[in-house]
Formats: sequence, structure tokens, C-alpha cells
Amino acid sequence: VPLRRWHAELAWLAGNSGAHSVAEQVLIEVDNAVITAVTPGTPPPPDAVRLTGLTIPGLVNAHSHAFHRALRGRTSSGAGDFWAWRRQMYDVAARLDPDTYYALATATYAEMALAGITTVGEFHYLHHGPGGIPYDDANAMGAALIAAAAEAGVRLTLLDACYLQGGLDGSPLAGPQLRFGDRTAVGWAERHAALPPAGPALRVGAAIHSVRAVPVDQLGVVAAESGDGPLHLHLSEQPAENDDCIAATGRTPARLCADCGVLGPRTTAVHATHLTPADIGYLGSSGIGVCVCPTTERDLADGIGPVAALENAGCRLSLGSDSQAVIDLLEEARAVELNERLRSLRRGTHSATELLTAATSGGAAALGWPDAGRLQVGSLADLITIRLDSPRTAGADARTALAVAIFAASAADVTDVVVGGEVVVRGGCHARLGDVGRVLSAALAPLWH
Ligand SMILES: [Zn+2]
Repeated sequence: VPLRRWHAELAWLAGNSGAHSVAEQVLIEVDNAVITAVTPGTPPPPDAVRLTGLTIPGLVNAHSHAFHRALRGRTSSGAGDFWAWRRQMYDVAARLDPDTYYALATATYAEMALAGITTVGEFHYLHHGPGGIPYDDANAMGAALIAAAAEAGVRLTLLDACYLQGGLDGSPLAGPQLRFGDRTAVGWAERHAALPPAGPALRVGAAIHSVRAVPVDQLGVVAAESGDGPLHLHLSEQPAENDDCIAATGRTPARLCADCGVLGPRTTAVHATHLTPADIGYLGSSGIGVCVCPTTERDLADGIGPVAALENAGCRLSLGSDSQAVIDLLEEARAVELNERLRSLRRGTHSATELLTAATSGGAAALGWPDAGRLQVGSLADLITIRLDSPRTAGADARTALAVAIFAASAADVTDVVVGGEVVVRGGCHARLGDVGRVLSAALAPLWH
């Protein structure tokens, strides 16, 4: 990527001390996919691309299941709980093959790009063919995700999940679940080791689907065999998981993970909704990250997690779109604070700066991209612009732009997306794929016929 320059009307910049501020008339220079200069208070030079509105680092979606996009609108209304939703999700999983998985993931990641997401963490467990028979390439489904992210223009951390049993009672995988399984943690590790190496836009991490899905004596094996990349797991999303875990092991999921060596600085617990005070202590003292997915958690009637308590205990926060009920990281960010207000009857637990940090550098750290998520010299040139002249955002100025972006803007207000110095979205249009609505329609229609 040659030397390129962008000129931002307003930009949310990281300072030397780690503090952020909104600056005006900012020239951002990029060489070889990395930011090489950030100069506020500069008039736009003629060769710079103008970014009108508020420019921020690219958003990081730390928890995604791309294929759940097919469920949108089919599970959002009516009765039922998480477990009823899961049966519908399994119906979709049963229909996918590497080609349809690629098409659906490409379209979903393109929707993410339009929403300003420049990096996605894909928690991937749909590994094998029907009945659990491996494809000729045992990582054909993972390869489809890698190709999809490249086509959509977003960075990918592939979090390849180990999924071995049907529940904490040790029941075997059955039906659609057979496609998730590798028989043993060692079997999972062998397949995981054959995934492609990291590249400019790819990181490979690992995941434990949940304490439900991996036997107690295999949890530590997965952690030990997962290399030094990110390690994610779903944790205590539902009270039933806690009840089953206590019944089977005498311990909560957090305590069990602590005892099995699963928790550490490269670990991210997803959801962490139903925790005891002792659980919060185990998670905080181990230095893990916590990824919350508020739009999914409210859609599935999961509950509201103790986010502020986890952060106070030492956990770094990130955000995810998870089930793709909606794809809008700004909505995820504001929901963290607004949920807390409803529960605590207090405002202001999280500032707009803290929420945007979770949506950018917090997620980047959780996904193995320590150089992403900040507009500063030396960071990856991933940046997006939120227009400040839409019906939702009009009237914002340098003083209010950040709060307007976090508390009122939507994904539809993202006009420009740059990933590694490459233009992915310009003027609200996907540069490579064009009409993303049509791309999504084409990917989704065959799944329901
Ligand atoms: Zn999930």
C-alpha cells in the first residue's frame, strides 16, 4: 500500500498518556498499512482524501458467529428462551456447506464493514460435514471464513472452537452437534494445528465452546494446546449452565475454569452474565478479558452481566455482535452503560470514551491485534468516519461529537472505512462488493428454500 493521506474534519485521537481527545482538522498519513503521522490543526492538502464527520479507529467485533445472520427475524419475536433459539440455530447449521458458509460469511462480514467493523473475532465451531464426517480438508469451513473476511475487506481472528460433548452430564454429541466435534481435545488440537498461519489480516486463536461442551479433564488440554494466541470461551451465559456445572462438578463455571488453567491474560470470557462475587474475583485476578454482547443478551433473555464489577476487578472489556440480531457496535457500546443505568438507577458508570475504548482497542487486544484500535503513530491504519449531518447526528460539534456518536448514531451513519490503508467503504458503499443488501439476499435465500 503506497503512501496515502486522509484529512479528518474531527478525529478521536489517542494521546501519549493513553488519554483520548477529539481534535479538529487532522491530517492522517499512512505508509505500508501503518499510521506514520497524525497532525491536528492542519488545513486539508489537495492530495488528501477528505473525511467529513468524526473519524475514529475501526470498530472491533470481538465475538461473532457469522452464520447466525441467517436467523435474523426468524427468532426475534414470540416466546421461548435461549434453548428454543438454539434449536432453530441448529436447523441453520445443518444446512451449511463450505460454499454456502463462505457466501453467508462474506455477506455478513460485508454488513460488518459497512457498520465500521474493521476486525472481527469469529467463534467458529461448525467444522465438519453432516454426521460429523470431516471434509477432505478438515478445515474447509474455517478456510471459507478466512476467504470470506478477505473478500469483505475486514481483519479476522479465527477462534477455532473445541466442542466435544452434548452437555455437562457427558452426553455425546447428537444430530447437528456432530458437525462441531473433534472427538477429543487432542483431535481438536491436531486439526487446529493445521490451520493457516497468521497473515497481515489474519490471526488464529482458539476457543473452548463452553464448560458444557468440553469435559472437565479436557479443558486444560485445550488451553495447553492452543498456542499463544487468544483463547475465548462462552461463560455463564445462562443460569442453567451454572446449575448443571455445580451439579456435575461442585463448582461454578468460573471456578472450574480457574482450577483447570483456562484463565489467563490471553483468555476472553464471553457473556460472563451470571456470576457470584467469588467468580468475579477469579476472573479479575487472572487478568482475563470479558466480552459482552448486549443486543444478543437482551434478545435471548440472558440477563445483564456485572460489567462494572468485572472491570473494577481487573477485566478488560470488549464487545461483540454474537448472534447478529443486529450488527451495530455503537448500539452494543451504549447498551453497556444503559443496561447499567436500568439496573443501578445511576447514570455515568461508563463514559463515552470508555465505551468507545471497549469497541476499539479493547476488542483489538482480545483478538491478538495489539497494534490496532488507536489513531496514533505506529498503529495499524484502520479508521472509520461517522457522519455528523444525518438526522441522528446533526448538530454535533467538536465538544459533543463523541457523545453523539456513542449515544445516538447508528451503523448507518458510517460513511468511510479504511483497513490497513485500503479503502473498504467510501460514501457508505462497499468498494468491492457494491450493494451489500443484494449480497446478503443472495446468500440467505437458498438457505430457506
Ligand atoms: Zn456466542
